[in-house]
Amino acid sequence: MNKMDFLKEVSALPKGVYLQLVTKLTLLDETIIRSNDPEEVLTFRYQKLGNRFIIPWRKIKGKLRRMTLEKQRSLGISPDCHLKDDLCMRCPSCFIFGGTGETSSAKVAYNILGRILGETFISTTEVGEVEPYTQNAVDELTHTTGQALMNIVTVPPETEFYGVITVKDPTKEMASVVIDNLKRLTRIGARSVEWGRATLEILGYKLTDREDLSAYFIVNDNGDLLSELEKIDSLSLPEVESSYRILDEQVATIVESINKKATKRK
Ligand SMILES: [Zn+2]
Repeated sequence: MNKMDFLKEVSALPKGVYLQLVTKLTLLDETIIRSNDPEEVLTFRYQKLGNRFIIPWRKIKGKLRRMTLEKQRSLGISPDCHLKDDLCMRCPSCFIFGGTGETSSAKVAYNILGRILGETFISTTEVGEVEPYTQNAVDELTHTTGQALMNIVTVPPETEFYGVITVKDPTKEMASVVIDNLKRLTRIGARSVEWGRATLEILGYKLTDREDLSAYFIVNDNGDLLSELEKIDSLSLPEVESSYRILDEQVATIVESINKKATKRK
């Protein structure tokens, strides 16, 4: 493992630099999680760790992306960029979180591979004997109970989770934007009523040439890996609003050069 430096500018091509941020998320309320979706797994039995609460990465990623969009909109950057089918494919948010040209109304001939990678968050303690139960979902129109089965799991307040979030090929501006959003995160999930309040603490970071941390390892060794981390305060990062503006300019330049190449090929 080699220590690396931040990139000076955003890069279209991979450079093999990984900023791994180790975070601890704490739920402040008792949280009821409802799910009709089998993919939305909320507990998982690990062979070594036993039964744990887990939070799928896409729940956290979705929240971070929304926060990034809101913040850049407040700065007048790509106010027309919207989630789902209306990504602009040329703003800081699209650059960090990725997007595909096909699903964008921007009708561009390129995709953007997201620069932020995450994995499942795992609770620091085992789930007690409370097993998730299933009940019939009530049809809102007829008030009858239908076929749809709904899983309900309650997570006790103050449950803590470890999670590792990686920024690929980071510049200091990218780190500033991502860290600012992580620090401001107070709720998780798209429909936050189901999740309630949370706080997120960044326990430390590593800036190296590979990804070698995971929530699983950290939970498994009772946090010993945490002592190897560097403190986030030791990073002297640029101020967040100017970081959005600098990123916006750099991403525009990259997109322009990609477009030129795409036109040449035709
Ligand atoms: Zn965008």
